[in-house]
Amino acid sequence: MSPLPSCVVVGAGPAGSIAARQLALAGWRVTLVDRSTFPRDKACGDVVGPQALATLAAVGLTPEPEWPRIGDLDVWVEGARLHLPASPGLAHPGEGRMVTRRLFDAWLRDAAVAAGARAIVGRVRGLVQGADGVRVHLDDGVLDADAVVGADGALSTVARSVGAASPTRALWGFALRRYVASSTLDADRVDLLAQASGFASYGWAFRGADGIANVGVGIAVGGERARLRGLRPLLDDYLGRIGLVDVADAPVLGGWLRMGGIGVAPWRGRVLLVGDAAGFVNPLQGEGIWAALASGAQAAAALGARGPLGGGPAYGRWAEAQMAPFLAGAALLHRAALWNPRLADRAVAAGARVLAHRPSLAAGVGAWLNGLVALDGPGHGSGWMLDRATVMAARASGLLGGYELGASLGQVPSMLARPSRLQRLWRAT
Ligand SMILES: Cc1cc2nc3c(=O)[nH]c(=O)nc-3n(C[C@H](O)[C@H](O)[C@H](O)COP(=O)(O)OP(=O)(O)OC[C@H]3O[C@@H](n4cnc5c(N)ncnc54)[C@H](O)[C@@H]3O)c2cc1C
Repeated sequence: MSPLPSCVVVGAGPAGSIAARQLALAGWRVTLVDRSTFPRDKACGDVVGPQALATLAAVGLTPEPEWPRIGDLDVWVEGARLHLPASPGLAHPGEGRMVTRRLFDAWLRDAAVAAGARAIVGRVRGLVQGADGVRVHLDDGVLDADAVVGADGALSTVARSVGAASPTRALWGFALRRYVASSTLDADRVDLLAQASGFASYGWAFRGADGIANVGVGIAVGGERARLRGLRPLLDDYLGRIGLVDVADAPVLGGWLRMGGIGVAPWRGRVLLVGDAAGFVNPLQGEGIWAALASGAQAAAALGARGPLGGGPAYGRWAEAQMAPFLAGAALLHRAALWNPRLADRAVAAGARVLAHRPSLAAGVGAWLNGLVALDGPGHGSGWMLDRATVMAARASGLLGGYELGASLGQVPSMLARPSRLQRLWRAT
């Protein structure tokens, strides 16, 4: 009898832990390696959104009752308020949950261990693929496996090591978060901040457990991480602007977001990239936990069904069909905001004023922003139309259809042989 297949999962965030759990349940020998000792903190807005809850439910995981619910959201832009009501869809509940990453990530990692994964602490330095398997190099030793799942976050060592992430083509964001007392916060909110800061940026304040709110600011950086500006003054200014009192000893934590799947190939040989390592963060609002969970579960399913060599291509087809269209459309709009942040905010403010008296239209737009339309289909009306329009624009601009991926892998997709007028225009900007 042949031995059970083995997998090293690098990174025990949501993407890695769910992949490790599902593979262990499928009978694989799984080693889940993370450089941190758990529980550990992670910069996040702490929103586990509706699709994330649906993905957890699909694999039999139920959120803890004490995690507070989060639903409707007020978006503020240039004095206009857009109320985005949360409602259930065909494939997701009408709410998310607030839970600190210290709790959530440890909870999921425990679920992986309970399913049979072996969790160890170790920093991965790189890996080498051979004909028979993959050798993973740690600070203090090596691990051999039939396949590797790279779930090591936005600055993935695994992706770099197998040449799957372009160093030049990317859509980067950076965000800071801090905990403050929430007593004066009467609604969960997001604020677009380009008028104040001059660059594409936003702030959020979400009410969590025990009278504490998670408050943060994020900035769109574009293709070069070196373009990051100091965000701390923007965070302090934002706290004052929305009237929240700082908790002096609460640490400020920051992190990178790699968005839109731009410049990353989701698999290479026996190595599958999931979550932030694959750049799956939503470029419209910075949400990444759902994509981390969905891609982690999908990578495990593909490996389980097709084995160490067939898993990558099967997973790649899923990423192309399920993730790429929405991400590319959203990335296109994100780039437009980078081009002229103040104009973009003005356009959103105009839209907010129109939608203020049309709640069902606003609900559709909210569903689209959160990537829910792609799951539910035409039911969301205005959201469905927005989704179709942005996907078509992404195709026309070359952002969807292998252009970004091709650029990172040195391939030239045939559609670029004779670029359309729109493609030429887009690449000229
Ligand atoms: C400030 C901020 C706010 C955000 N708010 C939200 C939000 O409210 N909701 C939401 O859905 N998303 C949010 N996101 C995005 C979300 O945090 C990520 O999309 C999500 O954490 C991705 O999960 P992951 O498992 O792919 O990666 P991560 O959660 O980053 O986990 C990666 C793991 O890999 C480990 N690791 C890294 N390198 C190595 C190595 N070389 N060797 C071993 N281990 C390694 C790390 O220690 C880490 O535990 C936010 C991001 C930021 C920065």
